[in-house]
Amino acid sequence: MMTTPTFANYINGEWAESGQTFENRNPANTDDLVALFSKGTPQDIARAADAAAAALPAWSSMNAPARGNILFKAADLLDRRFDSIAAEMTREEGKTLPEAKGEVRRSINIFRYFAGEGARMPGMLVPSERDRVHMFAFRKPIGVVGLITPWNFPSAIPAWKLAPALICGNTVVLKPASAAPLSSWRIVEALHEAGIPRGVLNYVAGPGGELGTALLQAKPLKAVSFTGSCQIGNWLHGEASKRRLRIQLEMGGKNPTIVLADADFNSAVENVVNGAFFSTGQKCTATSRAIVEEAIYDKFLNALIERTRKLKVGDGMQPGIEIGPLVDQAQMDTVLKYIEIGKKEAGAPKTGGNRMTGDGRAKGYFVEPTLFADVDERMTIAQEEIFGPVLAVMRAKNFDDAMRIANNIPFGLSSSIQTTNLSRVFDYVYRMEAGLLTVNLPSAGVEYQLPFGGMKDSSFGPKEQGPAALEFYSDYKTVYLKY
Ligand code: NAP
Repeated sequence: MMTTPTFANYINGEWAESGQTFENRNPANTDDLVALFSKGTPQDIARAADAAAAALPAWSSMNAPARGNILFKAADLLDRRFDSIAAEMTREEGKTLPEAKGEVRRSINIFRYFAGEGARMPGMLVPSERDRVHMFAFRKPIGVVGLITPWNFPSAIPAWKLAPALICGNTVVLKPASAAPLSSWRIVEALHEAGIPRGVLNYVAGPGGELGTALLQAKPLKAVSFTGSCQIGNWLHGEASKRRLRIQLEMGGKNPTIVLADADFNSAVENVVNGAFFSTGQKCTATSRAIVEEAIYDKFLNALIERTRKLKVGDGMQPGIEIGPLVDQAQMDTVLKYIEIGKKEAGAPKTGGNRMTGDGRAKGYFVEPTLFADVDERMTIAQEEIFGPVLAVMRAKNFDDAMRIANNIPFGLSSSIQTTNLSRVFDYVYRMEAGLLTVNLPSAGVEYQLPFGGMKDSSFGPKEQGPAALEFYSDYKTVYLKY
C-alpha cells in the first residue's frame, strides 16, 4: 500500500514540519487522500517574514538578469515534470486534465516571461530642460511581500504573483489556499532546486484566518497581493491600510456575455457554454449571465439548453470529461444554496439543478450544469457571485438594454460580447464597465502578456500580469545628475 506523502512548509530555505497536518483530498472522490500538508502556525508566518527580511539585501542587490536565470531554471524543472504536476492538479482541485495541463503550461510561460523581464526591467530616460543634466528613473523592489492565493487556479495565480515579485528583487511569503496547496508547492520545490537563495521565498500553508492575520501583522511586510473573495479582500484592505501596506486585490465577478441577434449563432452558443461551465464555473472570469437580444432569445435559449445537457460531467482524469467536480463540500453547498434561491426567484431551472451521485460520482462534489431562464436583473442569481456551474439567461430588448443590464452590477471583472457588428463591438469596448473584455470568445481564457484585473468591486490596486505587474512589485527612484 502506498503511504500518503506529507508536504512541509518552506521557511528560510528549509522544509519545515509544524507537527500538525491537514488533508488534501480529491474532490472527485473523497476516498482519495492526495497528500497531507504541514499546518502552518502564526509563528511560522513570523519566522518566514523575518527570513524574507534577512534575505532582502542580497537578493535585491543581485542583478536582475541573474535573478531571471533562477526563474528560467525553475521553469525548465516544471516543464520536465509537466505531466505529473498537471495530474496532481486534477486530483487536488478537480479540473479536467486538459484544463490542468493548460494551466501548468501557463505557469511555465509566466515564469519564462518574467525571467526575461530581468534583462529589461524598463525604467525611464527623458531629456532634461536644463543643460548638462541627465535624468532617469529606475525600479527598485518594495521589500517583503505577502502573497495570498485561491484554489481555483492553484498554479497560475501563485505563478503570476511570485514571478514578478521575485524578478523585481522582492522577497516573499506565500500563503496558498488550503483546498489546493500542492500545485504551488511544486513551484516552490522547483525554485528551491533552481537555487533560489535561502529566505528569498517562503511558503506557509494552513488556515487562512489565522495565517492571514499573522501575515498582516508581520513587521517586515511591505505589501500584500491577494486573490480571492470580496469578503476577505475587503477585510485585508482595512487591515493593510492601518499600516499603509501596499495592497493589490483581485476578487469576485458576475460576468456577462452579451449575445446580439447578428452573432455567429453556433459559435456564440459554444462560447457561452464554455464560459459558463468549463472549470465547473469556478473561474473568476466565468460567464454567469448570458444577456440575449430579444430577437433570437427563444432560439438561443433552446440551443443553450440542448448543448448544456450534452456536457459530460465526471472525474477530470477520465478522457472525454468536460466538467469536473466543485472543489469541496463548502463550495458545493454554496452552489446548491444558490440553486434553491434561483428556483424561488426564477422557477425551475431549464436544465440541471441537482447534485449528481450516479455513475461513480457519489464520493465527489458533482453538480449538474444548471441553467435558469428569464432571469430578472434584480434577482439574487443575477447579482451575486455563485462560483459554480450555474448560468442565468436574461432577455434584453436591444443592444443598449443589454449594455445597461450588463453594467448593472457592483462587479467589473470580465465580460464578453458575441456580435458581427463592428460598431457595436467598439460601443461595447468603450462602454462596458469591466477590466477584461472579449469579443466572439468566451469571457474566460486570458493570457499572461497583457494586464489582468477588474474594475468596480472586483479589484483594487495596480493590475497583475504583463508589463503592468512590475508596477505593483517595484517602486521608482528618480535621479537628476549634473555632469
Ligand atoms: P477566499 O476564501 O477569499 O480565499 C482566498 C485565500 O485567502 C485563501 O488562501 C484563503 O486561505 C485566504 N484567507 C482566508 N481567510 C483569510 C483571512 N482572514 N486573511 C487572509 N487570508 C485569508 O477565496 P477562495 O474561495 O479561495 O476563491 C474563490 C474566490 O476567488 C472567488 O470569489 C473568485 O471570484 C475569486 N477569484 C478572483 C480572481 C481574480 O483574479 N479576480 C481569480 C481567481 C479567484 P484558506 O484557503 O486557508 O481559507
